[in-house]
Amino acid sequence: MTRVFNFSPGPATLPESVLRQAADEMVDWHGSGMSVMEMSHRGKEFMAIHAETESNLRELMGIPASYKVLFMQGGAIGENAIVPMNLIGRTGMADYVNTGEWSKKSLKEAKNYGTVSIAASGEAGNFTAIPRQSEWKLQANASYVHICSNETIGGVEYHWTPETGAVPLVADMSSNILSRPVDVAKYGLIYAGAQKNMGPSGLTVVIVRDDLIGHALPITPSAFNYKTQADADSMYNTPPTYAIYIAGLVLKYVKERGGLPAMEEHNRAKAKVLYDYLDQSSFFSNPVAREDRSLMNVPFKLKDESLDDTFLKGAQDRGMIQLKGHRAVGGMRASIYNAMPIEGVRALVQYMKEFEAQHG
Ligand SMILES: *Cc1c(COP(=O)(O)O)cnc(C)c1O
Repeated sequence: MTRVFNFSPGPATLPESVLRQAADEMVDWHGSGMSVMEMSHRGKEFMAIHAETESNLRELMGIPASYKVLFMQGGAIGENAIVPMNLIGRTGMADYVNTGEWSKKSLKEAKNYGTVSIAASGEAGNFTAIPRQSEWKLQANASYVHICSNETIGGVEYHWTPETGAVPLVADMSSNILSRPVDVAKYGLIYAGAQKNMGPSGLTVVIVRDDLIGHALPITPSAFNYKTQADADSMYNTPPTYAIYIAGLVLKYVKERGGLPAMEEHNRAKAKVLYDYLDQSSFFSNPVAREDRSLMNVPFKLKDESLDDTFLKGAQDRGMIQLKGHRAVGGMRASIYNAMPIEGVRALVQYMKEFEAQHG
């Protein structure tokens, strides 16, 4: 069996040890005579898995007791509507910071539920930098300020936490959750689809401060109302049980590797290998401002884009897949989440060197 180095932006590579454990437990979980997939979500076996997954997430991220952790469905794109449905009703307006494709989608969706104001935008610079907070125009009466902490497509990431005073900060952390320590107390709400850094698709994690629950617009479907879900311990409807189980295994893996500080160190080391090479190359380039570069998603271009397909084919032949950039920005993109080993990044850079020597 050969595993590829999978640079997919999501669903993305998972730790091999997690997949092996899931395989071992597939047919009979811990002597229960059932697969996790076959368990009642209200049975004692699954309740234990659910509780352990939540408690490990709380421990790893240092989530204060005054926050609920909800396991929902609908993905981050679902949350683009669910967040305003639940939060915007407090004042009817919200501030959004536009840093690229994902925040643009979020703010467009939010307009269906209230007045959206763009506090800052990186659009003029083609989304190659995060607007400094000194340029933001925040409204004191906004219900919340929304950011995307890591733009998966454009490859810009916040390496600082915005100060929004009494207005709750809301972050789409789909593509950098668990990649480094975060001060959860600085946020009112954090949401993330699991399929980048936490597990398989189908699970959306929402971490929400208690006082923000209970303000949903009357049109909010019950299953997407944070209050309904919080009151029911995320079991108002059947939660994505298998995805929660796999996320639980991923969280244990992250703990065993030393938690989020160790993840950050590992991710910085990997990103450095790639960015250092890009910065000295005259053939490959990355357009993002150095201080805003993503540690998770690294877009890059070849000097001659007519060689893109040749590059991708050669990568595939070497067992490196999913390097094609998003159609919105073109070129290449290497997604190097927690589960990507440094060997994968070294193999990619080695291949890029050879490619440059041959075609540069
Ligand atoms: C992948 C991604 C999404 C979309 O998630 P879905 O699960 O497809 O809804 C949204 N935001 C960010 C930052 C992402 O990386």
